[in-house]
Amino acid sequence: MEQTSDKLRYGLIGYPVSHSYSAFMQNAAFKYLGINAEYELFQIPPKELDNFFKKTIVEKKLSGFNVTVPYKEKAVPYLNASVSPNVRMNQAVNTVRVEKDGSLSGVNTDGIGFCMDLKDHGFDVRRKNVSLIGAGGGAKSVATCVSGINPARLRIFDIDQSKAELLRRIVKDFFPSTNVETVETMDGLEIDRADLLINATPVGMKDSDPLLIDPGLLRKEVFVYDLIYNPGETKLLRAARQAGCITANGLGMLLYQGALAFEFWTGKVAPVDIMRRALLEQI
Ligand code: NAP
Repeated sequence: MEQTSDKLRYGLIGYPVSHSYSAFMQNAAFKYLGINAEYELFQIPPKELDNFFKKTIVEKKLSGFNVTVPYKEKAVPYLNASVSPNVRMNQAVNTVRVEKDGSLSGVNTDGIGFCMDLKDHGFDVRRKNVSLIGAGGGAKSVATCVSGINPARLRIFDIDQSKAELLRRIVKDFFPSTNVETVETMDGLEIDRADLLINATPVGMKDSDPLLIDPGLLRKEVFVYDLIYNPGETKLLRAARQAGCITANGLGMLLYQGALAFEFWTGKVAPVDIMRRALLEQI
C-alpha cells in the first residue's frame, strides 16, 4: 500500500449528482492501486458554485474533481493554471486538478472517452453519416471528437436551434473540412440514412420520457449510441435493439472519461478493467 500522510480527496460537483456512478469506479481504482484517496459527490446548488471554487476546494483540501451538469461551462472561468485545447474548443471542462499552489488546471475527457468507446465497439467513424440529437455539453464533446476522425457528414438537431448553430460553428472553426449541418426538425436528421445515431439529450432518463424517434426509420445497419447509462437501456436503445441494430449506452464513455481523469490527477495508468467491473456492479 502506498503511504501518504494525508488522505487525498477527489470528487464530483454537479446539481444533482446522486445518480452518478463515478465514485464507484474512482474509489475502486484508488483501492486497487493502494492510493490513500477518496472520491465523494458534492451536490452544489447554483448559488453556491462561486463559494465552492473560492472556499470549499481549500477547506476540503481537494486535489481534483470532476464537473457535471450544469457546471461544465460555468467552471471554465475559474481555471487559472493550464487549460487544455479541448476545454478551449468546447468551452466546457469535466476534470479539474488542483495544483500545489492552489491554482486550477482543466481538461475535458468526455469526447475522447466517447471515441475510445466507439473504438471498443469496433465502429470506425471515418466516412460515416452521423446524426446527433442534442447540442449541449455532452453533444459538443462528442461532435468535436467525431469531427476529428473525418465523418462523411454530421447532422445536428436540438430543440434549441441556437445551441445547434453554436455547435455547428465550433465544429466548422476547428474542423473546417467537416461536412456539418444543423437541421430544424428530427426528420432533417435523415435517420434512415445514418450509420451512427447518437442521443446526447437527457430524454430517456425518466420512465415517462417519450421515445425520441420514429423506430420505423431504424435500419439494422445503424449503430445507435445513447449517452445515458442509467437506465442501462433507454426506450431508444430498446427500439434499436428490437430493430436489429447494434447499440451502446453511455457506460463505456463514462468509464473512459473517468479513466483519463484518474490519469490526469494521479499520473498513474488507470486500472480500466477494475473501474469497468466497479461500474458493472452498479447496473
Ligand atoms: P445538456 O447540456 O443539458 O444538453 C442537452 C441538450 O439536449 C440541450 O440543449 C437540450 O435543449 C436538448 N434537448 C432536450 N430535449 C431534446 C429533444 N427532445 N430533442 C432535441 N434536443 C433536446 O446535457 P448534457 O450534459 O449534454 O447531457 C445530456 C445527456 O448525456 C445526459 O443524460 C447526461 O447524463 C449524458 N452524458 C453522459 C456522459 C457519459 O459519460 N456517459 C457524459 C456527458 C453527458 P434544452 O436545453 O432547450 O432543453
